[in-house]
Amino acid sequence: MLKTKENIHEKLNWLATFSDPGEGITRLLFTKTWQQAREALQAYMEELGFDVRGDAAGNLYGRIPGRSPRVVMTGSHLDSVRSGGRYDGAYGVLAAIHAVYHTWCLHGTPEKTMEVVVFSEEEGSRFPYAYLGSRYVTGQVDPERLENAADGAGVTIDAARIEAGITEAWDDTPRTDIDQFLEIHIEQGRQLEAAGESIGIVDAIVGQQRFYFTVSGQANHAGTTPMPLRADAMEAAAAMIHRLLEETRRRGDPLVATVGQLDASPGSVNVIPGSVTFSLDVRHPDDEALQAAVAAVSGICRDTAEAYGVSLHIDPFMTIDAVPMSQAMCHDLDHICSRDDIAYRRMYSGAGHDAQVMGRHCPSALLFVPSTDGISHNPKEYTEPQYLDEGITVMQEALTIWAYKEESS
Ligand SMILES: [Zn+2]
Repeated sequence: MLKTKENIHEKLNWLATFSDPGEGITRLLFTKTWQQAREALQAYMEELGFDVRGDAAGNLYGRIPGRSPRVVMTGSHLDSVRSGGRYDGAYGVLAAIHAVYHTWCLHGTPEKTMEVVVFSEEEGSRFPYAYLGSRYVTGQVDPERLENAADGAGVTIDAARIEAGITEAWDDTPRTDIDQFLEIHIEQGRQLEAAGESIGIVDAIVGQQRFYFTVSGQANHAGTTPMPLRADAMEAAAAMIHRLLEETRRRGDPLVATVGQLDASPGSVNVIPGSVTFSLDVRHPDDEALQAAVAAVSGICRDTAEAYGVSLHIDPFMTIDAVPMSQAMCHDLDHICSRDDIAYRRMYSGAGHDAQVMGRHCPSALLFVPSTDGISHNPKEYTEPQYLDEGITVMQEALTIWAYKEESS
């Protein structure tokens, strides 16, 4: 039985034993390993006195019923990336169980029902359907997409879930009983560590836009074409990349832009590239600022194309709007941290989380604890036990406000 919260670290090591063989943690949705981990969590929560049930998407819920059926929900995801770490998702799940349990032990029956959620397929590592669990809770699963989503071996989500013993019928009704959602997660960056802070309170999860920029010039002989007579797609693309990144730096934090892919055609050492395609990923927590940055860098690239005598085609292929977290909940978390003398900051999340799906559905908050060296999605993921504990403390204080006071934010 859980007596002190010092054993969060131990509990993380326990959950980490549910992993496919190989380096790091591999726990993919609906696999034997995932199924065993889910069953173990179910038994653990039942032992602590939670009412536990599952749903068709593989989510698992553990409830402490309150006087009111309105729900304060907290949790994160159980699935991992391939060869990931032991904290991503797992900490949010175990911290939620610990925080709910301890708050309950301390204060007894809550006013509102406290519910731990263990989400399925946040990462999209097995099926091309990231956030499946939180989308299911909020009624945002697209049936057609669901039917077509299959893993690398061609196994569909439905076939896999039946195989894993998940037999509940699909229900596309969104939950309407959730008043608040709280997730805690490792930062997956190094801002907190660099500042020596224990907690990040996330103001918003950034919006993202992704593009392919295709630069078309003239392929020609590398030896016989004098420099002034070239329309070199690579030279123009290089200038564009340099200038757009410069513009991003000039605009400053929290704007980020990344060119992560580049493909030259025909791709020979002795041919001037006739065509170059590069990707662009731009993120900002404010949609208007994101739009303005995208317009600016697109303009810069078009001017550059003209100057180099090449043409440019810009193909947008992904847009995700920024998701603001509940300012009322952030305010409560702010208050808790300052009162308890916990070093914290307000910040943005540059990565996606279940809280971004939940945040479109109900007031939601997201807390970060530091990641050592900013490492994540890697077996070397680590967070100091002190931070794991402080995160749970803040969650307990927050649950006390949100689930126990009749009038909360
Ligand atoms: Zn995660």
